[in-house]
This record gives sequence, C-alpha cells and structure tokens, in this order.
Amino acid sequence: MLPTLFLSHGAPDLVLSESPARDFLGSLAGQLETPQAILIISAHWETPGPAVTAAEVNGTIHDFRGFPAVLYTMRYPAPGSPALAARIAGLLTQAGLSVTTDRQRGLDHGAWVPLLLAYPAADIPAVQLSVQPHLGPAHHMALGRALAPLREDGVLIIGSGSFTHNLSEFFHGHAEQEPQWVTAFADWFSQALIENRSDDLLRYRQIAPFAEKNHPTEEHLLPLYVALGAAGEKAHAERLHHSTDRRVLRLDAYAFTS
Ligand code: ZN
Repeated sequence: MLPTLFLSHGAPDLVLSESPARDFLGSLAGQLETPQAILIISAHWETPGPAVTAAEVNGTIHDFRGFPAVLYTMRYPAPGSPALAARIAGLLTQAGLSVTTDRQRGLDHGAWVPLLLAYPAADIPAVQLSVQPHLGPAHHMALGRALAPLREDGVLIIGSGSFTHNLSEFFHGHAEQEPQWVTAFADWFSQALIENRSDDLLRYRQIAPFAEKNHPTEEHLLPLYVALGAAGEKAHAERLHHSTDRRVLRLDAYAFTS
C-alpha cells in the first residue's frame, strides 16, 4: 500500500532554481508505486468546513505576488476526478464531517508546485482538499482518519505545507545560518513524529519549543496531520528529506506507513 506523505512546498519559486528540496521532489515518484490518483491537502485553501475540488480538468491558480514572470505562465493541467471527489465527500460525511464540493476551483501553488516536480507529466488525476485553520490539529487528524480507506484504492494522500513557516523572518530576517529557534522546533517535531507521540503532536502548540515563532499561524502545519491521520493510529514516520531555505524555512518531508 502507498504511504501517505507530508511535503514542504517552499516558496513558489522553488520550482525555478536548483535546490536540495527541488531535487528531492523530482526524485519522489521513483521511490513510490505509481498512484491511481492523488489527493493533496494544501495550506493555501482555507474554508470554514472541508471542501474538495471536483473539476474535470484542473486549472492552475497563481496565488502569489512578486515572483518572476515565468512562474505565472506555468500550468499543471492534471485531470480532476469528480468520482474521487464524490468518494471523499462520502467518507467525510460518514465520519460526521460536513463537506462541500467545488467544481470550479483548480490547484493552488501549494498543490501544483510539488506535483509539477514529482509528476511532471500531469497525467495522474488530482483532487485537492481544503484546510480549516480555526479547527486545529485534532480536526485535521480526524479528516485523515476518515480518508484512510482511499489508500486501498491506490490514492496517494499528500499533505502540502511547510515544516516551519515564519514568513516575516523569511523575507526580512538577517540570520546567517539556521537559528536555534528553528532547529529546536524541527528537532522536537521530528522526534515526536518518529516516536509517534500523537498526544504530544496534537498539543504541539503548548509544548514544542518555539511553536508559535515557527508557525505564527497553523495552516502550513495542518496538512501534516491529515497525512498522519490517514496512516492510522500506529503510523510509522520516516523522514524522507530535510533542508532549509533562506535559513528559516525548513522543507522537511515525511512518509507515513502503517
Ligand atoms: Zn505555502
């Protein structure tokens, strides 16, 4: 069975220049069986309740400003899958979660940037699920649990966010190397994942060092909980990649198996 994944998508320009994270994403498909379809949960689609895309063909959303012009010409026209969207809606409804279906929305950069690098042919049907930042980690873990049966159908479940995500330090900071507040948080979180300390992970904001400094808002970490939840209670975490972009953005990636 396919693992579930957490990927850090980095800044939109990740796709443009050589970096360890870009190389990692480019090598990802070779490490996995080819999925039948992809469900990607991106930090860049926030809705009051879960929403799933159900377009026949995915549009490409350029939801960023101030980056090189070539980025705005890039497209990721993977097929959608209204059938998979309906199955997702069914599973979430069964779990007592209300869900809406969106036939218009395409893939935002949190979804298409990693998919373009990992599956450049854009020939695997892809569906996106939104996040609900006001509902926190436990809700996203529950979303993942409800979606776990998709793995039996060959659906690759990917949470796409960022392992650390302080954008004000990213754009305006002056650190010359990765600061201790980034390293301490990443080490704590990594250890908690490897040891599958789910209670600690659910209250990371209270107990992890520098949690709020690394995630002033939570939306870039919440996709991780969906991937983790979908791997089941006994999820085994493996770190697939770690690197740091411009000192403060940790681009770590994980696979979860059960
Ligand atoms: Zn992002």
